[in-house]
Amino acid sequence: PLTIGVLALQGAYDAHVNTLISLGATAKLVRTPQDIAGLDGLIMPGGESTTMLKFLERNDFFATLQTFVQTTPTFGTCAGAILLATDVQHPPQRSLAALDITVERNAYGRQNDSAILTAETTLPGGPLEMVFIRAPRITRTGPAVEILATRDGFPTLIRQGHLLAATFHPELSHDPRVHQLFLNIIHKTA
Ligand code: GLN
Repeated sequence: PLTIGVLALQGAYDAHVNTLISLGATAKLVRTPQDIAGLDGLIMPGGESTTMLKFLERNDFFATLQTFVQTTPTFGTCAGAILLATDVQHPPQRSLAALDITVERNAYGRQNDSAILTAETTLPGGPLEMVFIRAPRITRTGPAVEILATRDGFPTLIRQGHLLAATFHPELSHDPRVHQLFLNIIHKTA
């Protein structure tokens, strides 16, 4: 089976582990730069990207991860998607700059910051439930980015080659399609 790392510095990593196990993958919590050796793929979970960044700035973890995400399949959800982006706004913040998007943090304001919506997706199997928690908004996608689902016209699920990103939390819905897509991307990239 595939071995998928789940970045476990902070945030919502446990539910990702459960979904991966349910799909037959082996999940490994990643807490140090050494932990990413030998992984087939990595999930960067939701949480608080600024806090994750602080942890990553220790022990050269940021640089190790930046090299890793250039070639190894990586799936960023919410804060993880912010970390993968080339351009972060509101406020601007350092990022791994692997995924050619502009992302605006906490874009929905205090009143609408959390929501559960169902929307059309290009994934087979019908509409997709999306759990948004203090979600960012993707305001620009580069030419290599494929849009798989949207909210109010803004992309919520995107793919750029070996990279997958969601502005929502697929690990909190009882629907494994997004994680299954990530595993399929790994099989095709290998
Ligand atoms: N608001 C968080 C951030 O800016 C992201 C929220 C989430 O990951 N659910 O990092």
